[in-house]
Amino acid sequence: TEARLTDPQPQEDDQDRALRPTRLADFQGQAQVKANLSIFVNAARQRGEAMDHVLLHGPPGLGKTTLARIVAEELGVGFRSTSGPVISKAGDLAAILTGLDPHDVLFIDEIHRLTPTVEEILYPAMEDFRLDILIGEGPSARSVTIDLPPFTLIGATTRSGLLAKPLLDRFGIPLRLQFYTEEELKGIILRGADRLSTPLTTEGAGEIARRSRGTPRVAGRLLRRVRDVATVEGTLPITEEVATKALRRLDVDQLGLEMLDRRYLEIIVTHFGGGPVGVDTLAASLAEARDAVEDVIEPFLLQQGLIQRTPRGRKVTDRAYRHLGLPPPSAKET
Ligand code: ADP
Repeated sequence: TEARLTDPQPQEDDQDRALRPTRLADFQGQAQVKANLSIFVNAARQRGEAMDHVLLHGPPGLGKTTLARIVAEELGVGFRSTSGPVISKAGDLAAILTGLDPHDVLFIDEIHRLTPTVEEILYPAMEDFRLDILIGEGPSARSVTIDLPPFTLIGATTRSGLLAKPLLDRFGIPLRLQFYTEEELKGIILRGADRLSTPLTTEGAGEIARRSRGTPRVAGRLLRRVRDVATVEGTLPITEEVATKALRRLDVDQLGLEMLDRRYLEIIVTHFGGGPVGVDTLAASLAEARDAVEDVIEPFLLQQGLIQRTPRGRKVTDRAYRHLGLPPPSAKET
C-alpha cells in the first residue's frame, strides 16, 4: 500500500536523523515530561546510580525514541535499542541484557508486544538486576542465576492498556506524551527548516504546523515534501501561500487529515448512519489492520473531537459532519 504522508509511523525516506534533538534543552514541547526526566536524570547522576526504569506512553511519532536517546546522552551512558516484536525468544533478551555496561539505557519500543515468556525474564532483571535462566532440557535441566549490571529500561508503548500489570508495576517513572500544540510544532518546523537550510516564513511554518496532526514526525515529513514542491516549482521561500498550495496538492486538509482519515469518517456516516460501529467492522471496511486503525488513525480523530469511543463502538460527532461538508443529523431534526 502507498505510504501516507501523515502516517506517524516511521517511513523509509525519513531523513529524520538530521532533525533529531540530542539534548533535553533542544527538545521542544512535553514540558511536564521534560521537567520530570530532568529531575530523575540529575538525581541518578548525583548518586552515581542507574536511573529508575521509565515507561513512555503515547501515539507514534511524538518523540518517545528521541527522548530515550536523549536520556542516555544526558546520563552519559550507552544506549541499546530493540523492540518487542524483535525479541522472540527469552534467550534473545538474555543476550542483550548480559551485553549491557553498568548504567546503560536499554530502549524497548513496542514493549506491549513482548511475549509472556520474554516478560518473565524481564521481571527479575528489572527488579533485582538478575537473570534466571533454565539450561538444558528434561530431567537434567537446571536453573542458573546470573547477575546483571544495573541498567535503566526505557519502554515505549502506544497502548499501556495492553501491558501486563506486573510489567507496568515495575516502571518507577511512567510518563505520558501529549499531542503537540501548533505553537510547539511551529518551533520544531522552523528549527528543522534552519537545519535543512530552507527559507521558510513564520506564517509558512504555522500553516505546516496546523496540518501536522500534533505530531513532530508528521511535521518533519510535511516540511520536506513542501520543500520538494517549492524547490521544483521555484517558489522558495516557503510562505503561507506556498505551503497551503503544496499541502493541498499533497491532499492534506486544514485539520491535517488525509484520504484515509476522511474515508474513515465517511464510512461511518454513509454505511453506519454515523455509528456506533465496532472497530473490527470499520477496519474491514477500510481494508486496514485493526492495530493501524486504533494506533494511527483514531488517536488524532479522538483528540480533535471528530469521533467518540462508546461501549458499542465508534461514533462520529457533529464536528465530523461539518468537516466533511455535511449537515449534522442534529441540525436536520430541528
Ligand atoms: P516515537 O518514538 O514516539 O514514534 P520519535 O522519537 O521517533 O517518535 O520521533 C519522530 C520524529 O519526530 C523524529 O524524527 C524526531 O526527530 C522528531 N521529534 C520528535 N519529538 C520532537 C521534538 N520534541 N522536537 C523536535 N523533533 C522531534
